[in-house]
Amino acid sequence: MDIKYFKELLIERKEQILKNLDATRSELADLQNTEINDDGDYASLCTDNMIERAIQDQQQKELIEIEEALKKIDEGEYGICEMCGEPIKPLRLKIKPFAKYCIICREIVEKEPKK
Ligand SMILES: [Zn+2]
Repeated sequence: MDIKYFKELLIERKEQILKNLDATRSELADLQNTEINDDGDYASLCTDNMIERAIQDQQQKELIEIEEALKKIDEGEYGICEMCGEPIKPLRLKIKPFAKYCIICREIVEKEPKK
């Protein structure tokens, strides 16, 4: 498997997320500095804010997963399913380079009721 390729993919994605998070952060800061007089504006600002925050949360989670994947590359454990220990298919890693599980285990994890 071409580890170098996936490492580059992960680093690229990481940089993209960091950039996005930075942009979102300054947007949120701008919003907080804006004076709001109109109730309608305020409501729409709040909704935007919530969506932004949800995206931010999602990206932050992805960032952690990317960091973990990069650590695995250094440790020589990248691309191994955490559940069954089988190699994850490169095709899957191309779509989701920070995947932790193979497709079969992923399905099991997703079906498991949340505790
Ligand atoms: Zn597995």
